[in-house]
Amino acid sequence: MPNHIRSVAVFCGTRPGNDPAHRAAAQALGRGIAEAGLTLVYGGGGIGLMGAVAEAALGAGGRVRGVIPEFLTRIERPYAELTELEITTSMHTRKTRMFELADAFITLSGGLGTMDETVEILTWRQLGLHDKPVILLDIAGWAKPVVALIEALIAQGFVDPVHRRLYQVAPDVPTALELLRTAPSPEPAAPPERL
Ligand code: AMP
Repeated sequence: MPNHIRSVAVFCGTRPGNDPAHRAAAQALGRGIAEAGLTLVYGGGGIGLMGAVAEAALGAGGRVRGVIPEFLTRIERPYAELTELEITTSMHTRKTRMFELADAFITLSGGLGTMDETVEILTWRQLGLHDKPVILLDIAGWAKPVVALIEALIAQGFVDPVHRRLYQVAPDVPTALELLRTAPSPEPAAPPERL
């Protein structure tokens, strides 16, 4: 891994989804992150794809840092064996902490929470607040409607076509990890680009 990428945040669902390919990808991703010597940063939960990524990373001897708001500890049930669990006071501080702790972001399949986290990290990059890689994993076609929505917004003149560079799509876990391995060093924080 390049020196500037030591940790990766994974955004993914609290549910496993209908297609078993999502859970298999979550397990492969957790394992792959650990084997690459990276720290996994994630939402701290022990359920759905979130739990599967964390369990696989820990099983492969990796470091896992969970970040969860206090009120969600009863619902998302933090994974007991985490290397570190940070409890925040709100969803906003959770996202801020995950952003601060991670050198790159991978979105695996998930629901509205996963979408929220992904769109926010893309908008922060659009604004020049960071230049960390954002990779969308397209497992069982999960990312296709997300990319189609962004393309529709470009076609309608609401997103500058230059912002296609804000993210990359990987068809599988090995490709996502390869994209991290070859990621260029981030540009220093720049003034906001044309929106
Ligand atoms: P989901 O994709 O809906 O299963 O949610 C995935 C994760 O995103 C869960 O840990 C949710 O608690 C989290 N999440 C949902 N909405 C937000 C939000 N507004 N800010 C931060 N995390 C969120």
